[in-house]
Amino acid sequence: MTENEGYTWLDGQLVKNEQAMVPFMTSALHYGLGVFEGIRCYATPRGPAIFRLKDHIQRLLESAKILGFRSLPFTQEQLEEACREVVRANGFESCYIRPLIFFDSQVKNLNLDVGWARVGISAWYWGAYLGDEALEKGARMNISSFTRLHPNIMMTKAKITGNYANSVLAKTESARLGFDEAIMLDPQGYVAECTGENLFIVRRGVIYTPGTWAVLEGITRDAIITLARDLGYEVQEAQISRDHLYVAEECFVSGTAAEIVPVTEIDHRVIGSGRRGPVTYRLMQAFHAVVRGEDERYQHWLDLVNP
Ligand code: PMP
Repeated sequence: MTENEGYTWLDGQLVKNEQAMVPFMTSALHYGLGVFEGIRCYATPRGPAIFRLKDHIQRLLESAKILGFRSLPFTQEQLEEACREVVRANGFESCYIRPLIFFDSQVKNLNLDVGWARVGISAWYWGAYLGDEALEKGARMNISSFTRLHPNIMMTKAKITGNYANSVLAKTESARLGFDEAIMLDPQGYVAECTGENLFIVRRGVIYTPGTWAVLEGITRDAIITLARDLGYEVQEAQISRDHLYVAEECFVSGTAAEIVPVTEIDHRVIGSGRRGPVTYRLMQAFHAVVRGEDERYQHWLDLVNP
């Protein structure tokens, strides 16, 4: 199936992808006034299942509240069902789901109270976001020359479309320099996150990750912290400096699109052994068993598309 043959859920109805259009004058297009989610659906023995659907839709609604939407046309339950409906309509076993709430009004206006919210949900097949090779050999990253957003300037807990201009600057620079992904520092100079992933390091056997004061509260990050602790690892939130990264035994990043990806080079310095580390590999295996529905203990994280 090509992308044009699929279906998008738009404002409560399924329409063909090629008919899921918005007018040029939609203000969301001009000012980045939308909030979105990225969710993965996995093939499991009980059919396609959406990973942590409730948590993703809750974060979507929180993002909408943070941006300032006062009312939305759909409830949490309706949006969860709409995600399942999109997967069913497209006949996917596994896919990536993209809900977007966007502000519609004439472009002459920047006030969210003068206009209304619209909602679309699309889905597509998406393989390894940072590439298959990075899953085994590890990704090569650089520290971005662009600083991550200060929490008083943009709202880092929200997936606001406009926030991603900052990610695009860093990602494009990183790709042009020949790296796979950029690591961004917060305004104090400590490690924040990547352009679309949270970051972890392992040092003297302990797993560290930046606290959520200036980064997105990643749902994969939360799953990894839970899985790591259940496996007996110590996990701590910490302020991580740039040089902490260089001397880490292991480094990996997490996100819905990327899943878990080892990082084996930062700023031309080899991290640890230069190969995917044992802690990273163990967490990758645990995570993939969970999302494929092979671990009974975490079935509550899977939302069946055809219950
Ligand atoms: N940070 C940023 C900036 C992101 O865009 C994402 C992707 N949503 C993440 C972290 C990881 O979050 P999650 O695990 O919920 O996808």
